[in-house]
Amino acid sequence: MLKDKTAIITGSTSGIGLGIARALAGAGANIMLNGFGDAVQIEALRAGLAGEFGVKVAYNGADMSRPEQVHALIKAAEDQLGAADILVNNAGIQHTAPVESFPADRWDAIIAINLSSAFHATQAALPGMKQRNWGRIINIASVHGLVASIDKVAYVAAKHGILGMTKVVALETAKTGITCNAICPGWVLTPLVQKQIDARAQREGIPVEQAKAELLAEKQPSGEFATPEQIGALCVFLCSNAAAQMRGASLPVDGGWLAQ
Ligand code: NAD
Repeated sequence: MLKDKTAIITGSTSGIGLGIARALAGAGANIMLNGFGDAVQIEALRAGLAGEFGVKVAYNGADMSRPEQVHALIKAAEDQLGAADILVNNAGIQHTAPVESFPADRWDAIIAINLSSAFHATQAALPGMKQRNWGRIINIASVHGLVASIDKVAYVAAKHGILGMTKVVALETAKTGITCNAICPGWVLTPLVQKQIDARAQREGIPVEQAKAELLAEKQPSGEFATPEQIGALCVFLCSNAAAQMRGASLPVDGGWLAQ
């Protein structure tokens, strides 16, 4: 379905971004990977994806906290893979602390990576999408784009912000073949969440498995994690013609978190 399209997925060396890259490659798209990690492992990942799905896969290590590197990432995809048809703004980090002791540098980093990078990438990718009159911009927000939790002031602010940006971009492209939507995952078991589970186990002096169960019980009625594969499948759907008139939507994949 996505043969000859190119997809850029920020933060795709791990977790949800990697799940999205695999799903889009499975649908035939060429892939620009991005994110941090061990160079040898990333090259194995790049070559593995290309071999498994028979698509072109490139990697660019742009730091999403640096606007000029975000622009360079989009240009690298256009130079190496031919276009930036699909942009998935996924890179994100977390830090938890009460607002009065929240470190200012973590606030700045979370706003830069989880929110501003999506603005810069969208700005860089839109002209090419407009030329071709086709594009898909998918912002990986969170349930925390719609509701709050304690100790996550920067993350919740960034995720609420990205839902606002999603709506503006959707309106500005409404009469084109470009759509912009957001996905709002609940808990997905990735390194970002594992850190929060480990911290909870340590804080409460309980086994990691118990901390995991408590984390889910607190917010996610299904009692199960959503998976990177499920988020990836939704991205493939959003890239399909069936989703051509979905514009500015915020789509939960949250085990019922937001239904409460
Ligand atoms: P993760 O830690 O597994 O992956 C994050 C990715 O972003 C990695 O590839 C990492 O290298 C990359 N990254 C981090 N900082 C970067 C930077 N400065 N520049 C470039 N890349 C950078 O996390 P994840 O759970 O897969 O999270 C992915 C996205 O999904 C985030 O935006 C997160 O907020 C969102 N999300 C996650 C969950 C969850 O439960 N895991 C829930 C809702 C939303």
